[in-house]
Amino acid sequence: MSDNTAQVPNSELVSSAYRQALEVISTVEPRIAEATRQELADQRASLKLIASENYASPAVLLTMGTWFSDKYAEGTVGHRFYAGCQNVDTVEALAAEHARELFGAPYAYAQPHSGIDANLVAFWSILAHRVETPALEQLGAKNVSELSEADWEKLRGDLGNQRLLGMSLDAGGHLTHGFRPNISGKMFHQQQYGTDPETGLLDYDALRAKAKEFKPLIIVAGYSAYPRRVNFAKMREIADEVGATLMVDMAHFAGLVAGKVFTGDENPVPFAHVTTTTTHKSLRGPRGGLVLAQEEYASSVDRGCPMVLGGPLSHVMAAKAVALAEARTPEFKTYAHAVADNAKSLAEGLMRRGAKLVTDGTDNHLVLIDVTSFGLTGRQAESALLDAGVVTNRNSVPSDPNGAWYTSGIRIGTPALTTRGFGADEFDAVAELMVHVLQNTQPGTTKAGGPSKATYQLADGVADKVKDASAELLDKHPLYPGLNLA
Ligand code: PLP
Repeated sequence: MSDNTAQVPNSELVSSAYRQALEVISTVEPRIAEATRQELADQRASLKLIASENYASPAVLLTMGTWFSDKYAEGTVGHRFYAGCQNVDTVEALAAEHARELFGAPYAYAQPHSGIDANLVAFWSILAHRVETPALEQLGAKNVSELSEADWEKLRGDLGNQRLLGMSLDAGGHLTHGFRPNISGKMFHQQQYGTDPETGLLDYDALRAKAKEFKPLIIVAGYSAYPRRVNFAKMREIADEVGATLMVDMAHFAGLVAGKVFTGDENPVPFAHVTTTTTHKSLRGPRGGLVLAQEEYASSVDRGCPMVLGGPLSHVMAAKAVALAEARTPEFKTYAHAVADNAKSLAEGLMRRGAKLVTDGTDNHLVLIDVTSFGLTGRQAESALLDAGVVTNRNSVPSDPNGAWYTSGIRIGTPALTTRGFGADEFDAVAELMVHVLQNTQPGTTKAGGPSKATYQLADGVADKVKDASAELLDKHPLYPGLNLA
């Protein structure tokens, strides 16, 4: 196996499995079979730079298409609310075992259906451990059903009266980290920490001061759009100083932790009380979530279903087990290091050609371009790049003058194209193509003739030129080489 596990190890076998599956689907709803074929063609033809996306291996993808989808298995391993869960037990136990071994975590919970679900499980497990359990102990009750109406009302009030401190959205945090429109902002009294206005880097002293003043129950670390590494030892120190639980959401960079790019103080798992992640971003697994925990939080996390979740997606847990097994190989380590090296090459290529980057670079898998230096909003830049076949997403930059809808940034990442086998030179070529598009895009005007944040004009011929150059790069590194649906 090369460092690119999206390669198809036995291409004729895999091709024939997919051809036959599509034929079966066609007998019921041919339009779905056609859309599935088309999606592969589209993914093969696009320069995918979305920092949160990747390409899972055929083994991971095939694992999801089975009868495990048909089984209800609420509860947890060996303790289910349904009969006949022995094979689901095997699957869930294996996924958890691979996760524990891979990340060196005392406990792992493989049921969350997504990153948001993983964070909800984490929040409610922390509330259960720190608020509900002590209250029950004090009242001499085994569980909440035993409480009187008055005690229950008081406990409900206490559960809803807790504080959370998370990274602000425009500094790179995620909306589940206490952003008001998300349930996390409604469940908790929340405040946010940000980055230094000069450097764009996390300001640990300001965070410490805010934590001391606000005294949160939970500090959330982790990000969606922060292009730098975090010192989790320092984060834990701050949490300990104020008696907070440290929760780290490593959804974006779990692959870099798994691949031992982030080690020591940069590895969150030993420092966080509870760590959450998605499995489908840099970790390159199926779409889903995972929670890791220190021993003291294990029993509350283990109650994720039915506390927060419905029946587990056993077919996806099976695919998580396969992906986590892949992530334990030396090839994955090589891949993860290439993701970080490639991000550096991309960032340097952009800066060399005049682009302004938030924090002036990167040392993880993502890059945040401040496109106001090209006179554009994020929305205009995202659309112009898409016209040229470059798939990115617009994103706020710190203290964004254009707000969360139009934004001033373009977020890009290297996990997906690194899976296709792109190296440093190809990412430098990608930087050149992106800057060419951005330099040749002019902001448009509104119908009334004023400046528009949405419309734009891409100079004639640029889209075709960039598409041709991208096609050359993509042809050199085909997606799922050998997988032939014809
Ligand atoms: N946490 C972080 C840091 C994320 O970036 C994301 C997704 O973008 C999530 C959680 C949510 O993941 P999901 O879309 O699987 O719910």
